[in-house]
Amino acid sequence: MNGCDITKKLFDLGDVSDDELKSLIENDCFNEPLADAADIRRRENYGDEVYIRGLIEFTNYCRNNCYYCGIRRDNRCAERYRLTKEEILSCCDEGYRLGFRTFVMQGGEDPHYTDEIICDIVSEIRSRFPDCAITLSIGEKPRESYQAYFDAGANRYLLRHETADSVHYGKLHPDSMSLENRKRCLFDLKEIGYQVGSGFMVGSPYQRTENLVADLRFLQELQPDMIGIGPYITHAETPFAEFKSGELNTTLRLISILRLMFPYALIPSTTALGTIHPQGRELGLKAGANVVMPNLSPVSVRKLYALYENKICTGEEAAQCRGCLERRVLSAGYRIVTDIGNVKK
Ligand code: SAH
Repeated sequence: MNGCDITKKLFDLGDVSDDELKSLIENDCFNEPLADAADIRRRENYGDEVYIRGLIEFTNYCRNNCYYCGIRRDNRCAERYRLTKEEILSCCDEGYRLGFRTFVMQGGEDPHYTDEIICDIVSEIRSRFPDCAITLSIGEKPRESYQAYFDAGANRYLLRHETADSVHYGKLHPDSMSLENRKRCLFDLKEIGYQVGSGFMVGSPYQRTENLVADLRFLQELQPDMIGIGPYITHAETPFAEFKSGELNTTLRLISILRLMFPYALIPSTTALGTIHPQGRELGLKAGANVVMPNLSPVSVRKLYALYENKICTGEEAAQCRGCLERRVLSAGYRIVTDIGNVKK
């Protein structure tokens, strides 16, 4: 089958064989047919609406040592910070005024924030902003902790599986971490009742196309509400300093493939995509993404949450980011809406 036929099959059936996925992932000639098909699907489900999520990067301390990540424990060059409850709440206040109805608290796995502290912050946000979604992205925890955050008022959780191949997982993470535990977390979160987001990096060291096919197959098993992907981007103060970053077009094709396989999914056009290309996020939207996640963190800490190098939007106030993004989304042919932005399944 040629590329257009495979794209049509994926459009019609929402699935193709592993070999067909492999050829779609690997070939630049499928960029346009895939993006066109994905845009039809996204408009069927979400029209021209783009949901925004206010990202609050509240700590860059981390007990983990992932080889790709700039805030890994052993990066002694990282200047560490934590936001107080009051600082987090004032980010939410400002975000709410700017039209955000989802707050995402993301951070390293920082033991300073005990379950009690997280629950206290979450329940305060919940009572002040009853019409908003609260998303947590704070890594792997015991099931009881996820349950406690949920009971305190959190309703979404982002935890990328990073790679669904356990051998590849072992090349990206130290022995203290496992794909098995990552998956356990994701299924626990689903069972508790969270809207769950997973995803993976594109072009991470040692990644092969077969691994990406496995990522798609794992997502079919998990059936997440949200799927976040972005290019791997090198950071000099990690063991992977010598590896090159992931590619724009491969990431865009994968966004389109995701839209065709998971028509209902909430798919962000990520900051990492915007970092490797000046119009990366616009291109991500045109390829099938329907969410953007601008930064609500205080400007004073933004540069410090450096998962990778040259991260964009680290110098601007939230209101400026919001305005800039508004224009970018319009230029791509979509519009930002003030909405909690739940999944349409
Ligand atoms: N501690 C939380 C949040 C991690 S940061 C957790 O474990 O989920 C959010 C995402 O950034 C990670 O899941 C990873 O996919 C991505 N990331 C980390 N380092 C990166 C890098 N060097 N390039 C691109 N993405 C990266």
